[in-house]
Amino acid sequence: MSGSTLLKETGPREVFCGLTSIVWLHRRMPDAFFLVVGSRTCAHLIQSAAGVMIFAEPRFGTAILEERDLAGLADAHEELDRVVKNLLKRRPEIRTLFLVGSCPSEVIKIDLARAAERLTSQFKGQVTILNYSGSGIETTFTQGEDGALKALVPLMPSSRESQLLLVGTLANPVEDRLKTIFNRLGIQKISSFPPRQSTELPSIGPGTKVLLAQPYLTDTARVLKDRGAEILQAPFPLGVEGSKLWIEAAANGFKIKKDLVESTLEPLITRAQKALKPYIEQLSGKKLFLLPESQLEIPLARFLSNECGMELIEVGIPYLNRQMMEPELELLPENTKIIEGQHVEKQLDRVRESNPDLVVCGMGLANPLEAEGISTKWSIEMVFSPIHGIDQASDLAELFARPLHRNNLLSPKTLETA
Ligand code: SF4
Repeated sequence: MSGSTLLKETGPREVFCGLTSIVWLHRRMPDAFFLVVGSRTCAHLIQSAAGVMIFAEPRFGTAILEERDLAGLADAHEELDRVVKNLLKRRPEIRTLFLVGSCPSEVIKIDLARAAERLTSQFKGQVTILNYSGSGIETTFTQGEDGALKALVPLMPSSRESQLLLVGTLANPVEDRLKTIFNRLGIQKISSFPPRQSTELPSIGPGTKVLLAQPYLTDTARVLKDRGAEILQAPFPLGVEGSKLWIEAAANGFKIKKDLVESTLEPLITRAQKALKPYIEQLSGKKLFLLPESQLEIPLARFLSNECGMELIEVGIPYLNRQMMEPELELLPENTKIIEGQHVEKQLDRVRESNPDLVVCGMGLANPLEAEGISTKWSIEMVFSPIHGIDQASDLAELFARPLHRNNLLSPKTLETA
């Protein structure tokens, strides 16, 4: 492990809940539907976070359970069965239905696993019904994807075939590009999880080597391992350095000759480093504070520090899976301060004291900080942007250079001379 300082903090948190991941999961698997079992608050969150992106029939909804249902759990189960039945009658194209739990007390009391079993046997042959929790008490927003993928793992067919499995949602063009690179290296059988259709689940077994594309899939990685897969240890594919080591981890796993790996990656690296240059000029020497939210904070900190020259003040992370993060921690500069968990008030005090040039944080904290003259970047943008891979390094850097550039344009000094 590197010489990072690891500390824990508990207290009030300011993060999105796991329901938010429905926003990208429903786009990834258009034959699936996400039915949030929750309150009006949950419905508002999911509508405002995702509603603006829907141009066709939505692939998510909320079964709102409120006081009336508190009177008896039997009522709640009946209500849920009724909503599911109506939904499936109206939308016969749905192939996988996720019942997504939330944190209101009336929902916590419902055994959604049993409800999913009961409904699956009722709709056998038409739709598979699964459940996971997106509750804000248990999850931060990216953990919703972890829960959804973990729920799908038991449905994956078994196979001993040698294959590479990329795990974690990637933008489709990025995924295609990465697969092309692995094909060039001679890895022929490559699958992705989640797949582009919920019914086209990849197989899994002792011949499968798993390369995690996202750092928030702790539970999914564990159950894939239980099915016999090998989890390849690597940093995550953000920036040139992380992406190179990530691809090399797969190449090592498949015993591919180093010369071939080098000659395949070299032109990509040269091009990416050239494209990064203007952003390095803008970011180098700037002070960065990352508040915990997306679980991408450590790979981002590594990229922004090692490749863009930013100075890390503090790296917050919702939870730290040391084993999974080990390759990332080793790449961080000495004495990087990492805080696991959150006490939002104390963290905001430290933000103000340290006077950073840029804060990466949730949307709820961004506006107040901007009002105090501190530039911010929404961490949620990282899960919607195609940022993975060597080719995307400059696009990733640009996401952080943009708010600094905007703030520079709006500074009183710039405005005076304009
Ligand atoms: S799951 Fe909990 S935190 Fe998330 S929207 Fe519903 S009530 Fe709010």
